[in-house]
Amino acid sequence: MKTIQTINELQHFLQNNKNKSIGFVPTMGYLHEGHLTLLKKARLENDVVVMSIFVNPAQFGPNEDLDRYPRDIEKDTELATAEGVDVLFAPTAEEMYPFESGITIHAGTLSTKLCGESRPGHFDGVLKVITKLFHIVQPTRVYFGQKDAQQLAIIETFVQAYNFPVEIIRVPTVREIDGLAKSSRNVFLSDAERAEATHLYKALSSAMEVWEQTNSVEEAISKARLLIESNTSGKIDYFEALSYPDLQPISNHTEQILFATAVFFEKARLIDNIIVNVKEV
Ligand code: AMP
Repeated sequence: MKTIQTINELQHFLQNNKNKSIGFVPTMGYLHEGHLTLLKKARLENDVVVMSIFVNPAQFGPNEDLDRYPRDIEKDTELATAEGVDVLFAPTAEEMYPFESGITIHAGTLSTKLCGESRPGHFDGVLKVITKLFHIVQPTRVYFGQKDAQQLAIIETFVQAYNFPVEIIRVPTVREIDGLAKSSRNVFLSDAERAEATHLYKALSSAMEVWEQTNSVEEAISKARLLIESNTSGKIDYFEALSYPDLQPISNHTEQILFATAVFFEKARLIDNIIVNVKEV
């Protein structure tokens, strides 16, 4: 595996691999089984696999965890090599953002809900880096996890609306045995919080079951909130049900329901979700 830090060098490598399919997995590193599942799928489906590791300052708010976001490039290099990644692209912030263009991308209405409400500007920053990475790598397929369901919905809509010539591949959420969604931020949980955190997935599963039994979104949400409140020390940022991927209120026409939650623990804000196919219920 080659590790490349500059855009020039990456583009030189890609020039030498013209006419091959490129599978791209953008990440912020500190790899876990979730990332590795994306890499495995990319490896199976493409001639060349490029993974990026870039903790993107543009998607962090002023009081968020940019500076303490976990990093371990050596271990990530080993894991990526073992997954058959061809190129690890790990640019610096200066390489990615050498000058301030004054031109911004706004994620718009889809970013006014869920995480967008408590993280203003977050999805603008995601689209900023994604646009740059897509132009630099020019991938055939890009792999994203459903763990970040809102991000995925916004990127799919962006790609469709602005004709980016790439295929977006959705990858289901990878979980710990007790149901907790794998996340780089799980290292910030204390032992007690780690044990409590399994209740996020339990609450999402319960919301799905209550909704299936009662057809009442309100009842599903209030029971799920109670489950989190009575079993964790965390503070709920949101627990919501919206149609997916358009993130609208549930109606008779809704085909997929997204149950999504974000919970603040002492040093980590965790997110998780479940998507339910209405027709199959
Ligand atoms: P991150 O490094 O957190 O920015 O994540 C990079 C990619 O991995 C994103 O597409 C995430 O949605 C995906 N991802 C993160 N955690 C998981 C997980 N537990 N299961 C599946 N995909 C994940």
